[in-house]
Amino acid sequence: LIRFDKVTKRFAGNTVLDNLCFSVDSGKHVTLIGPSGSGKTTILRLLMTLVKPDEGTIKVNGDYLTHEERGGKLVPAGEKHIREVRKNIGMVFQQFNLFPNMRVLQNVMEAPVQVLGLSKDEAETRARELLDMVGLADRCNEYPSRLSGGQQQRVAIARALAMRPQVLLLDEVTSALDPELVAGVLDVLRDVARTTDITMLCVTHEMNFARDISDQVLMFDGGKVIESGSPEKMFGDPDHERTREFLSAVL
Ligand code: ATP
Repeated sequence: LIRFDKVTKRFAGNTVLDNLCFSVDSGKHVTLIGPSGSGKTTILRLLMTLVKPDEGTIKVNGDYLTHEERGGKLVPAGEKHIREVRKNIGMVFQQFNLFPNMRVLQNVMEAPVQVLGLSKDEAETRARELLDMVGLADRCNEYPSRLSGGQQQRVAIARALAMRPQVLLLDEVTSALDPELVAGVLDVLRDVARTTDITMLCVTHEMNFARDISDQVLMFDGGKVIESGSPEKMFGDPDHERTREFLSAVL
């Protein structure tokens, strides 16, 4: 479903991703681990088209994200093409990023109405179902500022799911939360992983969560995947010395 092929990304001459190749099959849950600065967030930002690769190609669901085929040739993708491919991708950020001037229900309804063209009734039904799923059915009329960080993050998850994306990107979604609020958010995500066929790509420091939900764990270092495998293998008996060092520092 997702394929990175020889992707290189540099910031100010600093090579953050170096000829990176990896792929994620449909419906799988993949966790990216690795030291700070190893490029994990950059991968998610590339998928959201918030940044563009310097070299290489990214495909989502068979379509190039970065390019489009015109007259048998591969040319840089236009805005319209990027918008279409991006409809398949939802993201939850570290800092919730809710619309502060909209009530909770409106936050979840907004994109399905504006981007997918759903009627207000359809969008509201969908939003209420999702807010129920994340345990916030009774907070629909609040403004985000009246909610705890954990509640705001659960609204952000509902908002991402309201677009019915094929892919959900999670970027350290619990790292801005007070410790007592982390479990509630992770429980919601465990439910999403268990009950939907959504493909998940997750950057997290919550290794127990990663172990529970992942089909595959990718270890990044120096802009490359240096090792990948099942969570049992990666957390139990990794091959690579760097993976062992990293895990012994964070576990
Ligand atoms: P962390 O776990 O700390 O979030 P990460 O593995 O997610 O790290 P990235 O956020 O992808 O790493 O960043 C990789 C490198 O790219 C870092 O050195 C960062 O400073 C640099 N970088 C990322 N975005 C930009 C940008 N927009 N401009 C300049 N440098 C950037």
